[in-house]
Amino acid sequence: MRNTVEIVGIKVDNLDFMEAQAKVEQFLAGDSLNMIFTPNSEILLDAVKDKELEEILNEAQLVIPDGIGVVIASKFYGMPIKERVTGVDLSAKMLEMGASRGSKVFLLGAKQASVELAAEKIKEIYKGIDVVGVRNGYFSEEDEETIIQDIINSQADILLVGLGAPRQEKFIYKYKDKLKVKIAIGCGGGIDIISGAAKRAPEFYQKAGLEWFYRLIKQPSRFMRMTKLPKFILLAMYDAVAGRD
Ligand code: UDP
Repeated sequence: MRNTVEIVGIKVDNLDFMEAQAKVEQFLAGDSLNMIFTPNSEILLDAVKDKELEEILNEAQLVIPDGIGVVIASKFYGMPIKERVTGVDLSAKMLEMGASRGSKVFLLGAKQASVELAAEKIKEIYKGIDVVGVRNGYFSEEDEETIIQDIINSQADILLVGLGAPRQEKFIYKYKDKLKVKIAIGCGGGIDIISGAAKRAPEFYQKAGLEWFYRLIKQPSRFMRMTKLPKFILLAMYDAVAGRD
């Protein structure tokens, strides 16, 4: 049974990191494919306009609140989410868990140098995990069949898909019935974080719910993307109030 909060029409799991970890454990022990999505405010706002994305998110087995805006929005609905659980942190934990059970992981996404380096780092840090394949995220639709076949042939259990949103969600959804993995997670820039090509905000910013601010200062080009955060908050506030009796 999932404990979810519906935020602007999308069901987001209300859980803390330990509970998310328990879900991953359960998925790894099973034998069907589980889609994990990691929306922040920007992705939820996009999903309001993109019905296909909305449906895809609502069909996932686990939707974690990756952004502080999502956690804040849940309060408007009277069902405060326990804590922010990021895709990057959950992916790292997943690799740790995979290492102890000898899982096979396939990395799809990011630039070639970054995904190759991420594979090296994973082998170094998470001893016991088998990196069975890597593929950069710059491909066209004609390449997809080959990529899917490579993933199937690799017998991977865990598939990290870092193509940026909403491409990664749509990719996973499109091939969910073909893929034989146990977990397919849309991890955004997660591969770049593992490789070191991108840096997380220092812990202070993460804990203060200001990671978005840190990223804005470091990458001012993200300004337009960041304007989605207050828009999302207002929309969620309106949706929560208007939707109530
Ligand atoms: N990316 C990719 N293929 C593309 C576009 C982006 O593999 O066609 C990768 C990009 O290299 C990065 C990741 O997608 O590793 C996500 O980038 P972004 O910074 O947009 O992540 P987000 O902020 O959405 O988590």
